[in-house]
Amino acid sequence: MTYRYAALLAATVLSSCSTASTQPPPSLKPTVAEEAPRPEPENVTERKRLRLQQYKGRIVQAGLSFWKTEPGAEVFLDGKMVQVDKDGHFALGFGRDRTENAELEVIFTDGSSEKRTLSIGDREFPISRVDGLPPSKVTPYTEEQLSKIAADREIKNAARANPSRTPYWRAGFDWPLRGRISTKMGAQRILNGEPRRPHSGTDIARFPGVSYDEFVGTPVKAPSTGKVTLAEPDLYFEGGTIFIDHGQGLETVFMHLSSVDVKPGQIVAKGEVVGGVGSTGRSTGPHLHWTLNWNGTPMDPELLVPPMIAPQN
Ligand SMILES: [Zn+2]
Repeated sequence: MTYRYAALLAATVLSSCSTASTQPPPSLKPTVAEEAPRPEPENVTERKRLRLQQYKGRIVQAGLSFWKTEPGAEVFLDGKMVQVDKDGHFALGFGRDRTENAELEVIFTDGSSEKRTLSIGDREFPISRVDGLPPSKVTPYTEEQLSKIAADREIKNAARANPSRTPYWRAGFDWPLRGRISTKMGAQRILNGEPRRPHSGTDIARFPGVSYDEFVGTPVKAPSTGKVTLAEPDLYFEGGTIFIDHGQGLETVFMHLSSVDVKPGQIVAKGEVVGGVGSTGRSTGPHLHWTLNWNGTPMDPELLVPPMIAPQN
């Protein structure tokens, strides 16, 4: 034994004695490799990137992201299986209030797998507080209204009974209508200290200088390709309503339409006119309400489309 080695050994023994009371048993200590992972060789990093990559969208609250993995791979988000198309494309979405990390696991056809921890970026959503309101005098619904609301719910549930696995959404997304964004997705009102349900979609109203009559009936286009699953002229709350199934859990909901120009079962291409903007149902003025759901959770459409550009005067 050299002097140098003996000194090192003594130092090790000393340090393990002095910290023995606070350290876990040696078998539970993390290995050196876990504490300081060696950088992977370039070719390994590149191969991993090709096996699983995010190519669009953002991993943020109310954000959708689009991914590509190897064909045939199985994808799990927080332990739940995610639909993957035959080319390996899939979408992931996170709710408005999601704060905890997500676990993404991909199992490849050769049996190997990859796990990634995704941290969900925080966002600020508009909150408006209104205090000192007189207590609301809620008028109860009539029997007739209640049965209409119940019947509408049946129609909506039936429309969602057979979601499509076809990745129509790969056509990409664009605005269904140009106008002023009057209420953002996720915006919330707190009335007399009582938080209301956050706004599920993006509201598009007329630009300043456009009259009511000019705006009502403006064509509303499919924001992406999809299959129409609901086309109703007069739901109690939503008014003229269209559902478009973009596949793999992605769904557009349009509300308050003045006209519904498509039929359930019809395939519409991105940009195809499906109806006209209006103020039907429980609406305070003409606007298009656009909800974009991912497996039933509202996503923010604004994150997927180009900035809204006002017309030049
Ligand atoms: Zn709305």
